[in-house]
Amino acid sequence: MYYNSIVETIGNTPLVKLNKLNRGIAGTILVKVEYFNPGNSVKDRMALKMIEDAEKAGILKPGGTIIEGTSGNTGMGLALTAIAKGYRCIFTMSDKQSQEKINILRAVGAEVVVCPTNVAPDDPRSYYSVARKLNQDIPNSFYPNQYDNMSNSAAHYETTGPEIWSQTEGRITHFAAGVGTGGTMCGVAKYLKEQNPEVFTLGIDTYGSVFKKYKETNVFDENEVYPYMTEGIGEDILPKNVDFSLIDEFVKVTDKDGAVMTRRLAREEGLFVGWSCGSAVHGALEWAQDHLKEGDTMVIILPDHGTRYLNKIYNDNWMKDHGFLEAREFSTAKDIIR
Ligand code: PMP
Repeated sequence: MYYNSIVETIGNTPLVKLNKLNRGIAGTILVKVEYFNPGNSVKDRMALKMIEDAEKAGILKPGGTIIEGTSGNTGMGLALTAIAKGYRCIFTMSDKQSQEKINILRAVGAEVVVCPTNVAPDDPRSYYSVARKLNQDIPNSFYPNQYDNMSNSAAHYETTGPEIWSQTEGRITHFAAGVGTGGTMCGVAKYLKEQNPEVFTLGIDTYGSVFKKYKETNVFDENEVYPYMTEGIGEDILPKNVDFSLIDEFVKVTDKDGAVMTRRLAREEGLFVGWSCGSAVHGALEWAQDHLKEGDTMVIILPDHGTRYLNKIYNDNWMKDHGFLEAREFSTAKDIIR
């Protein structure tokens, strides 16, 4: 048995039970481990779907160029699909991103244009503006725009949602996922609520993002927007893929709580995952503590892999510099021998 190309291995990721971090919480907590995708993230699913839908619509033709402003996971998914289908990729990134991320995308054949971070989004030098300009100037180019492209949530409605439903044999009662573009949460939520309207959906948001307040007040509050470090979730805009009617409640998680829980996932569950995974698990478990009952089944999405965070949250000195590491976590064999 073999696959015709690496993109055929996208999807059908495993669901794994938490055994330690959920101690004292009723019900069963399962995590969907999206790093099993070939690009090591949940974004492979929507990258493939955005490209295939553009092909069907005649927007992307053979020999075309895919242009997107992306710092990582979406770029990887687009690059892998582009290789399989013979397209060129150009990604614009802001210069606050690590050299590693740029190198990874170049490793899979993408061209990366690095743009200054400290300019407004509508400045012609920003990575949004440069992507748009390249799209205008390069013939037969396609700008997917993952925020407003509805193929994004459709990918999760067609794959992630049905996988979770069948893997739990319809027993899922609660679904939790971080919300960035909203594609994962809203695509899965739509599918699950169609199967069983009682399924409760919990969106994980960051401090510094507008989602939770907007859900509760219907007002876009600029005061909610300030810088934060967690990557991939929270926004200062309202993407079209976020359908608030499909998200029952939001919880916010701090950078520190997300980072600490990510390290615990690696050490206590053997799940070497990315920062937003810790945020999702921290937020979901905190909520579950007060709400989950015996017999309930909660599924939490873990979007990506730990390698991309080795120089940040998996680096003790970085954690210490940011005040994220408790002193007791520092004891090493050396300390004990001394
Ligand atoms: N976590 C990570 C690491 C991501 O890259 C993303 C994508 N922005 C998300 C979570 C959130 O997924 P979505 O965009 O589907 O809301």
